[in-house]
Amino acid sequence: MARLSVVISQSPSKNPKKKKLEEDIVMGLMLQSGIDVTVVPNLYDIKPDSTGMLAMQKLGGNLVVVSWLYERAAHWVLDRNQIHGHIGKVLLQNEDDDEDDDEESDADKSEDDDKDRVIDQRELPNRRIYCLDLKASTKPNDFVDEIQRIHRENSVKVVGLGGGSPAPAKPLAVVPATDAVASNESPVQRFEETDGRRWYPVIDYSRCTNCMECIDFCLFGVYGVDRIDTILVEQPDNCRKGCPACSRVCPENAIMFPQHKTPAIAGSSDAAASLKIDLSQLFGAPESGKSAEEIAAIERDEQLVLAGRDAVGMDGLKKRQTGRDTGPKDDLDALVDELNDLDV
Ligand code: SF4
Ligand code: SF4
Repeated sequence: MARLSVVISQSPSKNPKKKKLEEDIVMGLMLQSGIDVTVVPNLYDIKPDSTGMLAMQKLGGNLVVVSWLYERAAHWVLDRNQIHGHIGKVLLQNEDDDEDDDEESDADKSEDDDKDRVIDQRELPNRRIYCLDLKASTKPNDFVDEIQRIHRENSVKVVGLGGGSPAPAKPLAVVPATDAVASNESPVQRFEETDGRRWYPVIDYSRCTNCMECIDFCLFGVYGVDRIDTILVEQPDNCRKGCPACSRVCPENAIMFPQHKTPAIAGSSDAAASLKIDLSQLFGAPESGKSAEEIAAIERDEQLVLAGRDAVGMDGLKKRQTGRDTGPKDDLDALVDELNDLDV
């Protein structure tokens, strides 16, 4: 059977129950043959040039990552660290994170499928990444069993995709693996270094349409673009700790803050997919009567003032997308409208 790499991402907290669950899973995996275990600090906190991240980047083939992050958040944290792959189907689901049980959400998603997503322009390597959420169960054996199932599933090799983006309508071609390594040992490598707690946005490129609203909204220089003008989180550590403001203004719910206490903002697929994408309902506080964008503007102002800068309020909200008239126009908008009326 082909070997399988499994990464255990530790909780940033010292909660003994969490630590025990992590270690019990490591112990359970060590008893399995053909599994290589890597233990790293909290995936979200470690920096791209840390030894733990560099070790993960070197792991070839299909990969299982077990973390305290929602599956979607973990996948896109890996992606921003150059660990790319197709999403592997996980059967051990966090009940808060099940996106398959809502018929209405399927209809909503098919409407959204008409949009061009950044992922559609990407070439992905011919590998699968399975992200398991440690919140899915308190029993270590549930995780060991699921990893064994994935290991069996991966005892066949995926071929013939040419390294390109997946074509969902076509089934994957599979042949039996021939390079299995016979071994009863399951080595564990550990990386203990920590960079401290971090706070930054993570983009889900399967949702992102590259509309650039986030780069317009953020006044702290967090976002940038790559050489083909695709949005990216360029200066993550410029982000203001605890503030999720830009996640509220992204029209596609593509921005996650994986450590936020609200599941929809932290990357729960359920919260994002089971509701029609109405950000006022999803992220706003209906009882306050404020829209998601108004709340975002208030949160951003708080951070501007804390940073010794002037608040900008709703006036600072720019809109690149047409047809999304969600707030009062600012002076510049009014001037542009006047110029348009003059037809100059
Ligand atoms: S606002 Fe959302 S959809 Fe638009 S570029 Fe930013 S992340 Fe992508
Ligand atoms: S939360 Fe605030 S500072 Fe951080 S990226 Fe979003 S808008 Fe910028």
